[in-house]
Amino acid sequence: MNYLEETDKVIFDLIQKEWNRQSDCLEMIASENFTFPSVIEALGSILTNKYAEGYPKKRYYGGCEFVDEIEQIAIDRVKKLFNCEFANVQPHSGSQANGAVYSALLKPYDKILGMHLNHGGHLTHGAKVSITGKMYQSFFYGVELDGRINYDKVQEYAELIKPNIIVCGFSAYTRELDFKRFREIADSVGAILFGDIAHIAGLVAGEQYPNPFPHCHIVSTTTHKTLRGPRGGVILSNDEEIINKINKAVFPGIQGGPLMNVIAAKAVGFGENLKPEWKAHAKQVKANAKILGEIFVKRGYDIVSGGTDNHLVLMNLINKPFSGKDADAALENAGITVNKNMVPGDTRSPFITSGLRIGSPALTSRGMKEKEFEYIANKICDILDNISDINLQEKTRQEIKEFSQDFRIYPKAIF
Ligand SMILES: *Cc1c(COP(=O)(O)O)cnc(C)c1O
Repeated sequence: MNYLEETDKVIFDLIQKEWNRQSDCLEMIASENFTFPSVIEALGSILTNKYAEGYPKKRYYGGCEFVDEIEQIAIDRVKKLFNCEFANVQPHSGSQANGAVYSALLKPYDKILGMHLNHGGHLTHGAKVSITGKMYQSFFYGVELDGRINYDKVQEYAELIKPNIIVCGFSAYTRELDFKRFREIADSVGAILFGDIAHIAGLVAGEQYPNPFPHCHIVSTTTHKTLRGPRGGVILSNDEEIINKINKAVFPGIQGGPLMNVIAAKAVGFGENLKPEWKAHAKQVKANAKILGEIFVKRGYDIVSGGTDNHLVLMNLINKPFSGKDADAALENAGITVNKNMVPGDTRSPFITSGLRIGSPALTSRGMKEKEFEYIANKICDILDNISDINLQEKTRQEIKEFSQDFRIYPKAIF
């Protein structure tokens, strides 16, 4: 029996439509991915019924013996994955995880030094529109015109600002982070070093990107981006005193009952990340992003920093007669989903931008390799070369729909 189809046809039909969209278009938003079918099963399970405020063996509700085991397995697996000693797997999202980190370790009006939103940082790194920029004093470092962090400048800012916490991590940066150098900077001014690896966690787990441990005092990540797990957050540390504060900040500080279905799904996802195959997958994610960058350059499109060390490429359209917004819309019409993004030296507004952020994780999860990415990169350039050609966009959309049929992950939308 299909319960949803019978009881709520409106939502059922919309989920079907979204499944078609996910299957027929090319998802290249760098923060998105296709999770494992086993993760979706755990998410859709009866665990959503259970209240389990507190932590394993220390709950405020009865009947927690099985969810205790599930949460403990999630904790043990994620610790192994990132080679650290303590973990909290309850944050409902990456932003909630970051909120808990600040509220555990800072007082209101303490100082955050993070990467500027327009230079690749995240809202939760102190942006004024985020609670993190209202409750704390926030200061920012950025990237140079070459698209790279200048660590001497970060050091200089840190000495001037004397932040309580330094955030290293990003949503749009194409190079490796020097966590060791960040720690030296933090130590030199007595700041806590907070690594937010939301975007790169899957690569770290596959040993294809530097591990923030042992350099960071505290680390947060999402579980749904390169990690390919369910939507959610995690906080990690090697410091017992810090994790005790974090545990109190997550519950009862900013959350109530943990989402036990999501925690089970996190455990399942971490189980996949721990398999030997994950390393090859993470390697493929990087190789695919590299090919995208190479073809773009070959076809006359600049990319920020001239290449990539991770899962994303930032196309620089400053010298083109169209904006990031125009490019985003044209590609969307052609069945390729990306997002507009600011680039270093951008003169257009954050709503228009002169860049595109293009990621490889989701299509790599669908089984695509260098050959397919080469085809896609050329399609992207064809569309941009002829940005006002609506017929070409429509034709490409059909071609892409056919091309995608061999790379399906899910047998159906609801299971
Ligand atoms: C995505 C992201 C987050 C927030 O994650 P949500 O689950 O969307 O709240 C935090 N930090 C960074 C660097 C991110 O890229």
